[in-house]
Amino acid sequence: RYYFDHAATTPVAPEVIKVITDSLTNDFGNVSSTHFFGQREKLKLRNARKVMADEIHADLNEIYFTSGATESNNTVIRQVALKRANEGRHLITTSVEHPSVLNVMKYLSEHGYEVTFLPVNDTGAINLNDLKNALRPDTILVSIMAANNETGSLMPIKEIGKTLKDHTAWFHVDATQALGIEAIDVKELNIDFLSVSAHKIYGPKGIGFLYKNQKLVIPPLLLGGEQENKFRAGTTNLPLIMGFEAAMKLCTPKNEQEWAIIYREYKQIIIDELKNSGIEFEINGDLDHSLPQTINLWLKDIPSQVLIPRLDLDGFAVSAGSACTAGSAEDSHVLLAMYPDNLKRVRESIRISFGRDNNKNDVVKLAEELVKQVTHLKQKGQ
Ligand code: PMP
Repeated sequence: RYYFDHAATTPVAPEVIKVITDSLTNDFGNVSSTHFFGQREKLKLRNARKVMADEIHADLNEIYFTSGATESNNTVIRQVALKRANEGRHLITTSVEHPSVLNVMKYLSEHGYEVTFLPVNDTGAINLNDLKNALRPDTILVSIMAANNETGSLMPIKEIGKTLKDHTAWFHVDATQALGIEAIDVKELNIDFLSVSAHKIYGPKGIGFLYKNQKLVIPPLLLGGEQENKFRAGTTNLPLIMGFEAAMKLCTPKNEQEWAIIYREYKQIIIDELKNSGIEFEINGDLDHSLPQTINLWLKDIPSQVLIPRLDLDGFAVSAGSACTAGSAEDSHVLLAMYPDNLKRVRESIRISFGRDNNKNDVVKLAEELVKQVTHLKQKGQ
């Protein structure tokens, strides 16, 4: 079987499994305990936090471990809204965010806040002027993802950061898909909050972190004990944090640059094979301005709901959109935002996302399989 759905989640790296297993075996102490066992674990926690801080050029006290990007996104959006309710009740986001941003924004818009959902163009990026026009004196938060999970499209984070520099709105970036692949410097990019998750970088599920600019204060989402500098209650999950640390260490700039070249080559293999076989297709988004590992294709006249199970039966796992909405019969909100007048395109698109476990041979096989299925379905008049 071949796995081409790394944007949904990645297999856990063997090095990471070893670290987690060792930690589960040996690091049973509670990080908050004052005795030897607690202090020993506390040091390990500090080291892991340092690795995260260094990755995004933040300070040690700006990293808070959470259960993942969903929790980080919820914490920022809900708690900024709560904290700043008297200053303003307007928030800005985009129409292509992950449900863990969109649904919190929708919730707020039903509870006394006003939310602007910025449109995107056909490459999946917002127009900077739309953001400038949407900003108001009462805008308290702008939440925009670094890279889209369905198309890999990149947002102009640098320009957005510049635009917000002199504005009172705080800037949150969901960088879940970009972590370890796109270099992130929160200070240079003027980012106030950043959400990430370990399971997209070959780490375990259920662990992530939130970066928070130390100058900004928001109340905790989870109340309880004093863990994470009183910002996130709950006994520290050291084994998963150490697994996250091990996964992060595998994302060196050199490794990632090498993988980026390989993934772009994989994309080209698929594109060339489809072209050579005379299959009609288009790329959803912009090939040059997207994550190297993700490609979203419109295969004309081939409904993804028909194609994907057939690929699966033959041993190839790809997806129609994000795993978080897959399973529901809903059309992709991301593709709908990019191609609002073309429901056919939305329903005939698939996402392929590569990972370290894919080799060139696997990709050639996938390309051939795509041609085989599309040709068959066309003949059937699907
Ligand atoms: N944001 C984006 C862009 C994502 O791709 C995901 C994972 N699908 C999340 C947030 C949620 O992350 P987690 O699974 O850690 O809650």
